Amino acid sequence: MTTYDVAVIGIGGVGSSALYHLAKSGARVIGLDRFAPPHSLGSSHGQTRVIRMAYFEHPDYVPLLRQAYQGWAELESASERSLYFPTGVLQIGPESGEVIAGVRKSAEQHQLAIDSFSHEEISKAFPGLVPPENCVGLLERNAGYLLVSECIDAYLKLAVQHGAEMATNCPVHAWDKEADEYVLQSDTRTIHAKQLVICGGAWAQQLLADLNVPLTILRKQLYWFENQVPHYTSGASFPVFLFETVGGIYYGFPQIDAQGVKLARHDGGETIASAQAHSQSEDIADRQSVEAFVQTCMPQLSTNLTRHAACMYTMTPDQHFLVGSHPEQSGLHFAAGLSGHGFKFASALGQILCDLATTGQTASPIGFLSPNRFS
Ligand SMILES: Cc1cc2nc3c(=O)[nH]c(=O)nc-3n(C[C@H](O)[C@H](O)[C@H](O)COP(=O)(O)OP(=O)(O)OC[C@H]3O[C@@H](n4cnc5c(N)ncnc54)[C@H](O)[C@@H]3O)c2cc1C
Repeated sequence: MTTYDVAVIGIGGVGSSALYHLAKSGARVIGLDRFAPPHSLGSSHGQTRVIRMAYFEHPDYVPLLRQAYQGWAELESASERSLYFPTGVLQIGPESGEVIAGVRKSAEQHQLAIDSFSHEEISKAFPGLVPPENCVGLLERNAGYLLVSECIDAYLKLAVQHGAEMATNCPVHAWDKEADEYVLQSDTRTIHAKQLVICGGAWAQQLLADLNVPLTILRKQLYWFENQVPHYTSGASFPVFLFETVGGIYYGFPQIDAQGVKLARHDGGETIASAQAHSQSEDIADRQSVEAFVQTCMPQLSTNLTRHAACMYTMTPDQHFLVGSHPEQSGLHFAAGLSGHGFKFASALGQILCDLATTGQTASPIGFLSPNRFS
């Protein structure tokens, strides 16, 4: 019988990175997944993810983002693949809104470079964008997008090269601690491991239920709209953009291929009871809201849909992550409740989970993400 140093449940966005870092550190590691990542049944699909440093959600994320940027650069170098595209990220909203005030606060606290645009300057600098009244813009040049499935694929391939084992289409139904080992049960296998890392995405609701932090699953929609004009393309140096409007927060990406411009709404979403209730069905009200945004703020873009996808956000009560070691189960470490903004951190979170599983500690500043804040 093999006893692994570490077993990783869930090798999607964060778990693929954890698997890579663990294998690279020399640990004997196995990653298990209910599907075959990269797949489109969880939270890490749909072509692209935004990455930005001047973090409006909270300045405490910035040191982790510095680590994450470095991690993505290392992944690009090790895999010899282009995964990060620094198009810049333009954030637009009222001066006192959550987004603009939050970006300014993070940028000031961490001396991050951002360029400011008045309402009039936005349309001149970015033809094709019509900002709502009373809105300003902040452009962070050291920001852009990641190719989400390609990042996961790169991590998994490198993890295997470093000696990791993978069991895909292998849902873990139960795990328990016997003496000083974790014992995991799937349909076909029993796995023994000294340390357990859980990166279950939307399934963390069940896998980490004993943390007693309520996790809400939101079904979120992504749309690709046909584009006929050059302004909205990566070739025209169009940035990733995020608008805080009175109707909601909308974001999108420059056109990078024949599918057109990808757009989505960040707030809202349909609450579902669990990840098992997820489906790819469309949400008509959400689509109409995104179309209304296009007609108002990007009027030269067509509203002809070329592609649609649905994906899950796993929300904590305060929309900040849960990262750390289990307060009662020694040897159990997790990253969960990434609340719709976690992919950009996956490179750093994988390293942090590796540190916790191999040394019991990490130098990364994750204290603010401890689930103890809810107790
Ligand atoms: C529409 C959308 C847009 C987003 N945009 C951004 C963005 O622009 N920037 C950003 O930073 N973040 C963004 N996010 C958030 C980000 O994508 C997620 O936070 C991140 O990808 C989640 O990674 P994860 O590893 O937690 O989950 P996943 O990648 O879903 O991985 C969880 C894995 O666990 C597996 N699993 C679950 N249960 C079991 C089990 N019992 N046994 C075995 N395997 C199991 C699943 O099959 C899955 O592969 C977005 C999310 C969505 C849905």
